[in-house]
Amino acid sequence: MTVDSDVLVVGAGPAGLAHAFWRTLDAEDASVQLVEAQPEPGGWVRTRRIEGFVCEQGPQGFRPNADSDAFLQALGLTDEVVAADPGAKLRSIARGQRLHPMPSGPGALLRSALLGPAGKLGLLLEPLRRRGGDPEESLAAFVGRRFGRQTVPLAEALASGVFGGDAHRLEMSAAFPAITEMEREHGSLVRGMFARRKQPRVRRPPLATFRGGMEAMVQALRHRLEHRLVLGRRAVALERDGTTWRVRLDGSPERTLTCRELVLAIPARCAAPLLHPLDSGLAAELAAIPFASIANIYLGFADGDARERLSGFGFLLDRTEASPMLGAIYCSSVFPKCAPPGKFLVRVMAGGMLHPDALERSEEELARDAEAMLRGYTGLRAQLLFRRVYKVRAAIPQFVTGHRRRVAAIRTLASRLPGLQLIGNSYDAVSVVGQMVRPARDSAFAEPVRP
Ligand SMILES: Cc1cc2nc3c(=O)[nH]c(=O)nc-3n(C[C@H](O)[C@H](O)[C@H](O)COP(=O)(O)OP(=O)(O)OC[C@H]3O[C@@H](n4cnc5c(N)ncnc54)[C@H](O)[C@@H]3O)c2cc1C
Repeated sequence: MTVDSDVLVVGAGPAGLAHAFWRTLDAEDASVQLVEAQPEPGGWVRTRRIEGFVCEQGPQGFRPNADSDAFLQALGLTDEVVAADPGAKLRSIARGQRLHPMPSGPGALLRSALLGPAGKLGLLLEPLRRRGGDPEESLAAFVGRRFGRQTVPLAEALASGVFGGDAHRLEMSAAFPAITEMEREHGSLVRGMFARRKQPRVRRPPLATFRGGMEAMVQALRHRLEHRLVLGRRAVALERDGTTWRVRLDGSPERTLTCRELVLAIPARCAAPLLHPLDSGLAAELAAIPFASIANIYLGFADGDARERLSGFGFLLDRTEASPMLGAIYCSSVFPKCAPPGKFLVRVMAGGMLHPDALERSEEELARDAEAMLRGYTGLRAQLLFRRVYKVRAAIPQFVTGHRRRVAAIRTLASRLPGLQLIGNSYDAVSVVGQMVRPARDSAFAEPVRP
């Protein structure tokens, strides 16, 4: 039986686009198609330019590494990369109505007011502590075990900054695998950090974006893949017929696409109902991965005292602060071109797993509370000129306790449906860069199972 394409990628977010890009890079005539529910590709990567301000709905930037270098080089986008201002490093923790500089390493932690004497002693003892034995240990438990209980609030802030998540629920080995690997290899994170410093390293900026904002990456991929994209059509049903997959799309006229290899590059919660008729057990595992919702509140100010008050990267709120706000990024300090001359842009995040109700507030309320929170901690007096709120619902997958076990089960069950691959940020890496890896080498399901 002939099929519409050998490979059909469902979902044209960063994972689906990057997958199709790699698979067609050296094989222009490869039979690969993509179908995307939204009228535009890109998933959460969306850059909006309003009144000269550059507002990202999803990722503010990416952390360059060897995978992103290879990907951007192949895509021809290396020259468009803009590194974050090296002066905008300082992150702070908002606690007790003021900002405390967040230490960037154990040495700085020892000098920080964030830890009392017992906390500092706990830190000094880290190299002497034994390796953990629980593969499902939470982020909070891991940090508490290695550095002492006083450091748990730092883990809580990290969880909300990276995942919009709860440090007591996130699984350390799934959410931060490089750190658990360091403990396994060196027996101590402090020793691991010293060992790493001795190794030769490629110098890369810690954070970067593109000249045209994060969406520049999507536009470059779209340009390459335009003729393969079916936009504005959602996959609503799957069937297997021998070695052929049949994918029914919504909308009219009625359309069904057939393929030999089906790559579901959609969030696990979206893959679950599609796969339910084929394997309810697999669907249940996929549906069990929770997702956090976030409100992004952009505030634009006249320069006034903004540059002086908002220098550095931004801050995260301590969990004890009575606020549904998670933190703020001083966008103009990190990427100075994101605001018109004489103006300053800030992004405040609210909601996440700990404050899901925040998404129910009106945009007006969220903007007002975000502004008051920002002025309260920083003493900012500059005039507010601009505000814009983007609510992103069920957006960030949570690698909660048992995640790695769940993903292993998903892999096993998915391998029983020949020709199926599940990729995207629900499984191994939540970051944009995690989706840029070359498939068949390191994608979530490394070896595509062919019929
Ligand atoms: C607010 C926020 C801030 C973030 N900040 C950062 C950051 O600073 N740095 C970083 O590295 N990462 C960040 N991320 C994470 C990053 O954006 C994601 O990891 C990345 O977008 C995931 O890509 P994806 O392709 O796996 O999924 P998605 O971006 O979710 O794309 C999936 C696509 O599938 C489509 N789809 C779903 N169901 C169907 C269907 N049935 N049929 C057809 N199409 C379908 C969707 O419309 C979507 O386009 C952030 C995410 C959010 C939400």
